[in-house]
Amino acid sequence: MTSSNLIPRIHFAALPTPIEPLPRLHAALASETGGRCPNLFMKRDDLTGLALGGNKTRKLEFVLAEALANGARTLITVGAAQSNHCRQTAALAARAGLDCILVLSGEPEEHPSGNLLLDMLFGAEIVWTSRDDREAALQRTFAAAWDSGRRPYLIPLGASNALGALAYEAAFREFLSQNTPVDWMVVASSSGGTQAGLALGARLANWPGRVLGISIDEPEDVLAGIVVAYANQAAERMKANARLTPEEIHVNADYLGEGYGIAGAPERESMRMFARQEGVLLDPVYTGRAAAGMIDLIRKGFFQPDERILFWHTGGTPALFSNRYSAELI
Ligand SMILES: *Cc1c(COP(=O)(O)O)cnc(C)c1O
Repeated sequence: MTSSNLIPRIHFAALPTPIEPLPRLHAALASETGGRCPNLFMKRDDLTGLALGGNKTRKLEFVLAEALANGARTLITVGAAQSNHCRQTAALAARAGLDCILVLSGEPEEHPSGNLLLDMLFGAEIVWTSRDDREAALQRTFAAAWDSGRRPYLIPLGASNALGALAYEAAFREFLSQNTPVDWMVVASSSGGTQAGLALGARLANWPGRVLGISIDEPEDVLAGIVVAYANQAAERMKANARLTPEEIHVNADYLGEGYGIAGAPERESMRMFARQEGVLLDPVYTGRAAAGMIDLIRKGFFQPDERILFWHTGGTPALFSNRYSAELI
């Protein structure tokens, strides 16, 4: 049998993550929609561990195995100043006894907060750059680390590549083993690796449901193309014959709002609803946007009332405590 189980992985995530019903959120939306709210569940990947959890924990299990096999001594990655992926990579490097260099778009903060504060607490070296120069700065940083003998290993944006997708193929099988049948999965989709793995897992299991990615920052066709590419690289890596096409990837890009990392009224509303109905924290960049999309689709009657939806919570909690967002959220 082909499976991502055959790919080297170092286990440190707190798995399996629970699946929980969302009864009070359901009741609130049912009363708004005249009883037309589908059943709601949540997969708690905000509880994966590794410095406050999130979807990057699963991906980094596969990434670390490859980095160590390559003799890496320094992890280098890239993201926004409040990147959850960078925070988790910094924690992982500390835990594994490796150096960490983060190439961040933005500017140094006088009083670092949220994920950036944690990056510094973990001892990561930070290279500041602009959004436009970010990939080039990453390449320069990698080359300099290589030339000075630091044995760098480069983790791409969001740890999205074949390995990141393989981690979510495994996560999909974890979901199946939990015997909570659902018709839809709704997940925040940005660099695409998470959705790629879930879509691949769904296809390999002949799962009858649908994985709906709520785009955080890309148009539909661009994101679907990225998701397919990672899914197929992952399939190849695990020697599965399956190949996905963009037509079978479900992406909704109606909720981009004012752009990446700008929390608007929909994000604030969904964060408040999850907090006040369920005592659950969403984040302003990813899960707040994905939940806002899901809630809007429920209100519009996109789902059938007898369907079951799993909201795949991907983490991001530390961004709540960043100066960038905290003032706008309440
Ligand atoms: C990175 C991230 C995502 C997006 O996952 P991708 O695999 O990049 O699409 C969603 N939610 C949170 C909290 C994240 O940090």
